[in-house]
Amino acid sequence: MELLKERIRREGVVVSNDVLKLDAVLNHQVDPQLIMEMGKEFARRYREERVTKVVTIESSGIPIAFATAYELGVPMVFARRKKTLTTDSDSYCERIPSFTKGIVTDIMIPKSFLTEQDRVLVIDDIIANGDAARGIIRIIAKSGADIAGFGVAVEKDFQKGARTIRELGVRLDSLVKILRLEPGNIVMED
Ligand code: 5GP
Repeated sequence: MELLKERIRREGVVVSNDVLKLDAVLNHQVDPQLIMEMGKEFARRYREERVTKVVTIESSGIPIAFATAYELGVPMVFARRKKTLTTDSDSYCERIPSFTKGIVTDIMIPKSFLTEQDRVLVIDDIIANGDAARGIIRIIAKSGADIAGFGVAVEKDFQKGARTIRELGVRLDSLVKILRLEPGNIVMED
């Protein structure tokens, strides 16, 4: 997606050879027009997939997931991050390591929001090692819902996450693929 690539080129900041700061574009400030275009693009790719729900993880996935759900005309559900994993029989919970924060967090979705009648499109901001993605896929599997696919705004191609999701047999679409990060230079796929 050219529009997103352009914004990443202008506003992304290389923090290290595996971390790209995208606070101005996705993680702290969002441009509603850009986000709606991203939602339109994911909706275009999944229009024929009989999606009943868009699922994401708080917080950076929410705007993109909202825009996608709006375009598809279905509800959006986000997994909440919890500080402590108290057993809760009314929710599906999973523990995931956080790539950027270096801690583990627990994510949960109430059972009433995901059922075996659902066909889910998962949306997230960035995929790195894929821990968040695998956590949300485990939650969806527990609920008995189907997964139509996984849409991420930014795929860091040099980390293993996207590959491990595709190896699970899950369709994964990204809008921008980052091939590598160099000091002051973000190398993206054409
Ligand atoms: P994963 O679980 O795939 O390793 O990491 C996924 C989450 O970590 C993403 O939802 C994203 O918020 C965060 N993340 C991973 N890599 C980066 C990065 O290079 N920059 C930023 N800003 N966030 C990242």
